[in-house]
Amino acid sequence: MDVYYLVVAYVFAGLFGICIGSFLNVVIYRVPNGMSVAFPGSHCPKCGYQLKWYDNIPVLSYLMLGGKCRGCKERISPRYATVELANMLLWLLSVALFWERSIVFACVAAFASSLMICVFYIDIDHKLVFDRFVIMIGVLGIVAVFFDPIYSWHSHLIGGVAGFVTFYLIAWGFEKLRGVEGLGGGDIKLTAVCGLLLGWERLLLSVMIAAVSASIVLVILSKIAERKSGDGSNIEYPFAPFLTSGFAIAMFFGDAIINWYLSLILA
Ligand SMILES: [Zn+2]
Repeated sequence: MDVYYLVVAYVFAGLFGICIGSFLNVVIYRVPNGMSVAFPGSHCPKCGYQLKWYDNIPVLSYLMLGGKCRGCKERISPRYATVELANMLLWLLSVALFWERSIVFACVAAFASSLMICVFYIDIDHKLVFDRFVIMIGVLGIVAVFFDPIYSWHSHLIGGVAGFVTFYLIAWGFEKLRGVEGLGGGDIKLTAVCGLLLGWERLLLSVMIAAVSASIVLVILSKIAERKSGDGSNIEYPFAPFLTSGFAIAMFFGDAIINWYLSLILA
């Protein structure tokens, strides 16, 4: 019977995951522009072609249309299908890793992944982290305090406080040293609520992942910008994509990575 419920959970996570992924595309495009996510229906930004239901089937429609608008043959960004697939995979991962230990935490992980995807792409597009996503992740964080099957409630509370304090100090130090704002206020709030969501052990790991990956990618990007325009030091890059990637990796694999690391140094 337990196996039966687990199979049902996988099927639902896959189907709903890909459909919610489709909705996330609407959120990522419309929320920063102050548009309603419900009306009007989706249409081609170039020719205005109103998408029919059969143009709106996640991933499949994109493949059937060959990645082009049915009306004007304008190329559709592969990002839409990427977001749908990514959300489906993260929802399946939530079931695979957490369902049998805590159904509530599996749902928290799934919804948190979807919010991270929104923050990731909106920051790339607009260099902004919207408060509404931070607040929703914060609410999931409060639920996680009670239902995380791996780390205890005090780990989550310490994580929330530590996230806020460390990032506030880094931002303050950066401003004092360089006279410019290095980290946006949105990144600080995001880190604080993710500390609550993940607990301090996973938070530490995720900030390390974000810092290392950001350093590598940013060095490469500024070298490219330097070649093109002669100076790459003044370009502002979004940081939330690195943070959200770190949070997601730590949320799903944090305890495995941390235990592996501890077994190495304690052996
Ligand atoms: Zn079109």
